Amino acid sequence: MTTVAFLGTGIMGHPMAKNLVRSGVELRVWNRTRGKAEPLAEDGATVAGTPAEAAAGADVFVTMLADGLTVADVFAAANVAPGTVWLQMSTVGVEWVGKLAELAKAADVVFVDAPVMGTKVPAEQAQLQVLAAGPDDAHKKADAVFGAVGSNTRWLGTEPGTATRLKLVMNAWVLALTNATAESLALARALGVDPQLFFDVMTGTGFDVGYARMKGPLMLDGDYPASFPATLAAKDARLVVEAAGDAIDVAGTAATLAHLQAAVDAGHGEEDMAVLYRAVAKEA
Ligand code: NAP
Repeated sequence: MTTVAFLGTGIMGHPMAKNLVRSGVELRVWNRTRGKAEPLAEDGATVAGTPAEAAAGADVFVTMLADGLTVADVFAAANVAPGTVWLQMSTVGVEWVGKLAELAKAADVVFVDAPVMGTKVPAEQAQLQVLAAGPDDAHKKADAVFGAVGSNTRWLGTEPGTATRLKLVMNAWVLALTNATAESLALARALGVDPQLFFDVMTGTGFDVGYARMKGPLMLDGDYPASFPATLAAKDARLVVEAAGDAIDVAGTAATLAHLQAAVDAGHGEEDMAVLYRAVAKEA
C-alpha cells in the first residue's frame, strides 16, 4: 500500500487529505495547528507531531501550505528520504518553484510541480483540477494522489515551473473576476441601481460568469466565510505582478492587489477574497 505524507491541512488541505485517506492510501497528516489535522484520525489518517514524523517511510510527500517560504521551511524540517516523490500543490509562484525544485534535487527527492485550480467546495467534492509538471516515472504515484483529490489532471511537461506558470495565468483571471464583480456591485449601490439587476441582466448572455454568482452574494451580504482567504489571494496577486515583471502591464491585477491589501490591513485577511469589496466600496 502506498504511504502518503500530507503536510498542511487548512481550507484546501483538509478536504484533500480526507479524500485521499478515503481512497485507501495509508495517510500521515501534519499541520502546524495540530487541532486542524486531528479530525482526520476519524477517517483513518495518522496525525503526526512533526513534519519528519509524517515523512518517515512515506513514498509520496505532499505539501499544501500557505506560500513558498513555508513550504521550504517544512520541507527542510521533514528530512524527506531520497527517492520520495514530492507533490508540491501549494501556490508558490515562479521564483519559489525554482528554489523548491533545487531543494528537492539536492535531497535526491523527485519534484512534481502540481498547483490546483478550484476552491473549498471543489476540494471537498474531489473536483479539483490539477496542473502538473514532473518526470514521467513519477506519474504513476502522482496520479494516484491527483485522482483522489481532483477530477482532472493536466500533465504539462517535465520541467518544474510549467504548471506554476499556468496557475498564475488562471489566477490572474480569477482575481480579475472577483475585483470586477466588486466594482460593478459597488457601482450599482453608489448609483442607486438594484444590484440584483446586475445578475438578472447577465442571465443567459455571454457576459454571465459563475464567479460573479459565487462571490457576488458574499459582497451583497457583507459576510465573507473563507473559501480562499484574502491574505493568500493578495499573495497570489503579488505573484502575478512579480511574474509579469516589466514584460507586460498588469495594472488590473495591481489594482486588485491594492484592494485585497487594504482589506487585509483593515483586519479582514482571514475572510474570503470577496472581502476586497469593502475596499472598493470604501466601507469603514
Ligand atoms: P489556509 O487554510 O490558510 O492553509 C494554509 C496552510 O499553511 C495551513 O495548514 C497553515 O497552518 C499553513 N501555514 C501557514 N503558515 C505556516 C508556517 N509559518 N509554518 C507552517 N505552516 C504554516 O489556506 P488554503 O486555502 O488551504 O491554502 C493552501 C494553499 O493552497 C495556498 O498556497 C493557496 O494559495 C493554495 N490554493 C488555495 C485555494 C483556495 O481557494 N483556498 C485554491 C487553490 C490553491 P495553520 O493551520 O497552523 O495556520
